[in-house]
Amino acid sequence: MKIINIAIDGPSGAGKSTLAKMLAADFGFIYVDTGAIYRSVGLYVLRKGIGSKDAAAVSAALPEIDVEMRYNDGAQLMILNGEDVTSLLRTPEVSIYASDVSAMPDVRRFLLEKQRKLAKENSVIMDGRDIGTVVLPDAEIKIFLTASPETRAKRRFIELTEKGIETTYEDVLADQFYRDKNDSSRALAPLKPAADAVYVDTTYCDLEESKRILRKIVEEKLEK
Ligand code: C5P
Repeated sequence: MKIINIAIDGPSGAGKSTLAKMLAADFGFIYVDTGAIYRSVGLYVLRKGIGSKDAAAVSAALPEIDVEMRYNDGAQLMILNGEDVTSLLRTPEVSIYASDVSAMPDVRRFLLEKQRKLAKENSVIMDGRDIGTVVLPDAEIKIFLTASPETRAKRRFIELTEKGIETTYEDVLADQFYRDKNDSSRALAPLKPAADAVYVDTTYCDLEESKRILRKIVEEKLEK
């Protein structure tokens, strides 16, 4: 069977992972959450006591880091040096670390081939910030998913609260502004839509409506 790659990019809280997971299940693709890979590197750096902006120390630590993805009933598990760290990756602290280390050229280079290899060997729906622009520029389908900052922060706040992570809407919004700015303004692989991406704004859509829109985009492209 022909390998098909779908790239979904967008800012944090746009609903990329929820929707990509649903689409992957519907169409039989492997879902790859690239943010979780950056988060795993961020967690390693945090645990090691390295400052999130200390590029030299982070580069020096990269050879010590082995990140691997495993799948359990369709759920992606992140294995960091043999340890399942999946449940440790969503804290606000790790979010900031992931955003800071992901701006470093050595970190992006370190993770690029890993992501490309997965997409070469499997039909994937990969979500991130630079999938359509840098990682998989030849992806058959590219979607740029976004929503207003307030809507995204509200969704993320609900998601974190449901996971038992204590936070406030104001803190989530502040973290999000920090990361939006970081991710969009960095020199390397900044967050931006690929020229050939379909732009989808879900500010006024609930999950069902968003899913219907994305499903239609994928179906139409696959039929061609
Ligand atoms: O998607 P998620 O919020 O889990 O990503 C965490 C951080 O990892 C993002 O804020 C971004 O800085 C970084 N990231 C990236 N490139 C990707 C995916 C995530 O730089 N493809």
